[in-house]
Amino acid sequence: MDLNLLTIDSARSAIQERKTTSMSLVESFYSRIQKEDSAIGAYLTLTKERALEQADRIDRMAAEGKPLPPLGGVPVAIKDVMCTRGVRTTAGSKILENFIPPHDSTAVARLEAAGAVVLGKANCDEFAMGSSNENSAFHPVRNPRDSSRVPGGSSGGSAAAVAADMAVVALGSDTGGSIRQPASFCGVVGLMPTYGRVSRYGLIAFASSLDHIGPLAKTVTDAALVLRTIAGRDPMDSTSADVPVPDYIAALNHPVSGLRIGVAKEYFGDGLDSEVRKAVEDAIQALARLGCEVVSVSLPHTEYAIPTYYIVATAEASSNLARFDGVRYGYRAKQARTLSDMYRRTRDEAFGAEVKRRIMLGTYALSAGYYDAYYLKAQKVRTLLTRDFDEAFKKVDAIVTPTCPTAAFKLGEKVNDPLAMYLADIYTVTADLAGIPGISIPCGKTRENLPIGLQILGKHFDEATILRVANAYESAGRN
Ligand code: GLN
Repeated sequence: MDLNLLTIDSARSAIQERKTTSMSLVESFYSRIQKEDSAIGAYLTLTKERALEQADRIDRMAAEGKPLPPLGGVPVAIKDVMCTRGVRTTAGSKILENFIPPHDSTAVARLEAAGAVVLGKANCDEFAMGSSNENSAFHPVRNPRDSSRVPGGSSGGSAAAVAADMAVVALGSDTGGSIRQPASFCGVVGLMPTYGRVSRYGLIAFASSLDHIGPLAKTVTDAALVLRTIAGRDPMDSTSADVPVPDYIAALNHPVSGLRIGVAKEYFGDGLDSEVRKAVEDAIQALARLGCEVVSVSLPHTEYAIPTYYIVATAEASSNLARFDGVRYGYRAKQARTLSDMYRRTRDEAFGAEVKRRIMLGTYALSAGYYDAYYLKAQKVRTLLTRDFDEAFKKVDAIVTPTCPTAAFKLGEKVNDPLAMYLADIYTVTADLAGIPGISIPCGKTRENLPIGLQILGKHFDEATILRVANAYESAGRN
């Protein structure tokens, strides 16, 4: 039994049946991290002590014959934008290099309460701003499938950790595509739940009306198991929705025949790589063979999604990041003479170039005289994009698109061209703006053996249907 290849259920039952121990599992993952991660860079901080304590607790339960909780003994990685009590949480930024939160984010607390073992904190773009993980203040992450390429971002460390068997599952965050795009580039499953489905308490905010927490996993079932664990109302986050959480696992095996799958031409236009197009078209045919009805839909405002996203996200970021001033926590410039000099130097010395660009763009968009032209207009277009989906979902149960226009690009390829980098999210930002759930699953490889991702979008709070379609596609591929 190769411990590093186990899924949630196989790991949990191996521990329950005493075929292995949680301790051996943890050790096996740490030894893999030690061997592989210097070349990949997926982790920023390892939490060995915390992991061993939790593993010991799980092993004692197993030894006493008590039924293990649903994620009992399962090693996980946490994107370093989620607070972990007593454990350095950096958001990939120098400004939080030594920040030790006094609290756990709800998602992490729920995972641990369900028996998961946190191995460490995963690398990411600074404040989750980026599509390649090259904006981490510490070091980039390399794609485990091809080390000359990026793993995607901003949850690049989470995706790479799962792809390189250095965690069974991971948590990531998605504001404009940061779970689904790296999942696609690394050949794993990435699920962004509906806005409000998962509590954001303890998530370091980037753009609060767009931020989502969700799982990266090797299988659709594992993604569903993690979602079931972290979903649901949390009194600590007033935007978390009081909507019942269905049994996603039971939903997985409902047949998909008769489901209506939407295909929108707006997601197959210029800029879509021909190999990606072919793989996604093949996947649509595979769904048709499983009995899905393929229906054309139109999402006419899609072309405005990227500019809309970059107004809304930067406006919210400029406001959220105002709290990093060197006073309450994080980095503080040493050589300041006055208070405002201290603010200025702190932010100048400790924010990276992309974060500064976003703060400036956002501040500009919100400034008096420009507000109506930019922010207000972007909000209106956001409503139009949401209505596009509302209309389409009157006709279909899910919408299938490519996750990204291309497979993983080379490190350094887009670092000097922010616009080209922003366009990597052209198919993912729409779901964040509309607040609907989306999943990316592997759907083949390019000639260069790079993974391709299929995106499935669903109605608000209907993760069950997209998981079901994803699972049907994944299972058909296995047979
Ligand atoms: N790549 C997008 C950005 O840079 C999305 C990031 C994210 O989803 N956190 O904003």
